Amino acid sequence: MSNAPLHVIIVGAGLTGLATGIALRRAGHRVDIYEKSNFANEVGAAIACAPNATRALRSLGLDIKRARGVERLQTKYFTKDETDDDTTYVNTTDLKQNYGAPWFFCHRVDLHLELRRLATGSEGAGKPCILHLGCPVKVIDPEAASITLSDGELVSGDLLIGADGINSSVRRFVLGEEINPYPSGLATFRTVIPFEEVANNPSLSWVTTNPEALGLVWAEKRTLVVYPCRDGTLLNFSGNHPERRKDASEQLRINAPSTREEFLDTFGDFAERYKDLINLSKEVSIWPLLIWDELPTWTHGRTCIIGDAAHAMFPMLGQGGAQCFEDAVSIGIMFPLGTPNDKETIEGRLKLFESIRKPRASEIQTMSNRFGRGQKLLKIEGKLEADLYAYDVIQVAKDALAYPRE
Ligand SMILES: Cc1cc2nc3c(=O)[nH]c(=O)nc-3n(C[C@H](O)[C@H](O)[C@H](O)COP(=O)(O)OP(=O)(O)OC[C@H]3O[C@@H](n4cnc5c(N)ncnc54)[C@H](O)[C@@H]3O)c2cc1C
Repeated sequence: MSNAPLHVIIVGAGLTGLATGIALRRAGHRVDIYEKSNFANEVGAAIACAPNATRALRSLGLDIKRARGVERLQTKYFTKDETDDDTTYVNTTDLKQNYGAPWFFCHRVDLHLELRRLATGSEGAGKPCILHLGCPVKVIDPEAASITLSDGELVSGDLLIGADGINSSVRRFVLGEEINPYPSGLATFRTVIPFEEVANNPSLSWVTTNPEALGLVWAEKRTLVVYPCRDGTLLNFSGNHPERRKDASEQLRINAPSTREEFLDTFGDFAERYKDLINLSKEVSIWPLLIWDELPTWTHGRTCIIGDAAHAMFPMLGQGGAQCFEDAVSIGIMFPLGTPNDKETIEGRLKLFESIRKPRASEIQTMSNRFGRGQKLLKIEGKLEADLYAYDVIQVAKDALAYPRE
């Protein structure tokens, strides 16, 4: 068996593209990542990484401390009118103990920087990935694993991976048709607040008492979500609510500017202590929650789509990013060094990848959509908790490769 590396082209340097780059460079392959933006920086606020996400990220060499992550020690549930902490429901399940990996909160910029360092730096096995910034991919040929850039340059590889997010360009070439997510009727305000502004405010003791927590404030059809990030120096704060913008194109616009006043107005009937936190927000953005159902396929010839390009989901289960990292790790396992670069082998491995990843990600996507559409308060406990967090993508992918089903 030849030990020649594959030439892998990844479209998109978001969390999925970078994590996949790390997995494939560590496997020994030559990886080029094409990113349309110039900075390859993350937008948005923070991300909560559940134990299954942490397990996948650790296997890629991520050090939570370097990413300035904060471990979640408990989940606090409040109702919108509640002012008495005695009636708060607190879940203190020790997830690290139960699942061997913690649940941690991270600012997206910190996580993105750390993944970028691991993908393109000298640390770790394999040759650093080459990151091509300011390179929007316009056309792809899924059978040939080739891309055409906006200046007309054609680049071909052995394997092509579309990690280009919810509005993926690669997707329609893989599917042979346009299937795009559409507005769900829900949106979320997002902001971050320096923890020092919260620390000495008595009305915010619901946040500052045991601050290493996920806090959920619940009302019919609306939820406030609060948790720390960046070594505990920042609070990530968001508010899910029914979309109020009427314009159809606005309803598709991710990371649109909003205001504290709009945030306050939407949650105006919440108890004062919750509005006190909204009052501390300075820069507020608004994200539509887009929705779709399981796609017919993720693969075509030498090409696959992964991450949000394949299975973007409602954030209600906190699993969107987790499923991206599971994709990345299993792609790395499916293509060990020495994988022949003939079309039949590459196609077969992608089908094997799809056979383990699509059922799992789609089931979680469907569940997230159901909870999101119903806007029900969701407690992740018992069987649901175990199904999500105990899953070991590394073992599942290794077993699938070692014992493929006929
Ligand atoms: C409000 C909200 C809260 C969330 N909270 C959580 C959470 O707590 N936990 C969790 O696990 N998940 C969460 N998620 C989901 C998670 O954020 C996403 O699943 C994840 O960030 C998707 O990463 P990605 O790399 O697949 O896509 P993206 O982050 O969209 O990255 C795609 C990249 O591709 C680039 N690109 C696009 N088109 C092209 C092109 N033609 N050529 C070249 N480059 C291109 C883009 O510039 C971008 O850099 C949340 C999502 C939302 C909306």
